[in-house]
Amino acid sequence: MSISAVTGHKDTPLLNLTDVTKRYPGGRLALGGVSLGVGRGETVGLVGESGSGKSTLARLALGLLAPDTGSVRFAGHDPYRLRGLSARAVRGRLQFVPQNPGGSLNPGLRAGEAVAFPLGLHGVPRRDRPQAVAALFQRVGLDPGLARRYPRELSGGQLQRVAIARALAPGPELLVCDEPTSALDRTVQAQVLDLLVELQDTAGIGCLFISHDLAVVRHLADRVLVLRHGQVVEERPVADLWRAPRHPYTRALLAAAGDEPADLP
Ligand code: ADP
Ligand code: MG
Repeated sequence: MSISAVTGHKDTPLLNLTDVTKRYPGGRLALGGVSLGVGRGETVGLVGESGSGKSTLARLALGLLAPDTGSVRFAGHDPYRLRGLSARAVRGRLQFVPQNPGGSLNPGLRAGEAVAFPLGLHGVPRRDRPQAVAALFQRVGLDPGLARRYPRELSGGQLQRVAIARALAPGPELLVCDEPTSALDRTVQAQVLDLLVELQDTAGIGCLFISHDLAVVRHLADRVLVLRHGQVVEERPVADLWRAPRHPYTRALLAAAGDEPADLP
């Protein structure tokens, strides 16, 4: 059972988007009135095909973009307006796991330095950082010896684990994961998903998990929202969605995931 089922995420979602719209300059409406809540320790899946607005929603949640209308709140704060030192503590509670870990890591920094950097920002003294980095490497299933390597010397799965370790460094309560496994091959993808599930179970870290692939979301989400052309067309507990998808678009996504609902118990 997820923590949210105990604490009741409906009372106080940690992350709350209400009726959010966003249009890029010159573009069409990327999000057309989306509401979404993620409770403490809850994992919410967001699925939809390419261009449906998933990454836009992630950027809004992280405060990298401001909505045109509607509101975004993380722990009661507007993430877009978080600035300065006092904001840092709040920012540490909300972290990002990107799609392309290779591209998000500075090629000139060793893996250990990439993870040590946010530790420094969040007040871990320099002398304590090597040990903290080693602990984070272990936590994500990496040999701490790999901390000396540069990104180009690591595999895709190892890079994604480094990106997750870096996201864990400030002690987040919520991870926004935007297609975190779509650049990885199947086996490695499963290992990284297992790691995210474990973090959810053992540390109670919540997750907004974004993917175009329902089969992936199914492994770790409590609840799934289906996004199409910037609108939520279906929002259900994951098991219900699988058993009895309501919207034709959800059925199409399930078929694309190679797992027809009728085949399942
Ligand atoms: P997804 O992550 O589901 O593929 P996005 O949120 O990236 O979708 O994109 C939603 C829509 O917004 C698409 O039509 C896309 O072309 C458009 N879009 C995304 N980013 C930008 C941008 N920086 N400038 C203009 N249009 C954008
Ligand atoms: Mg995207």
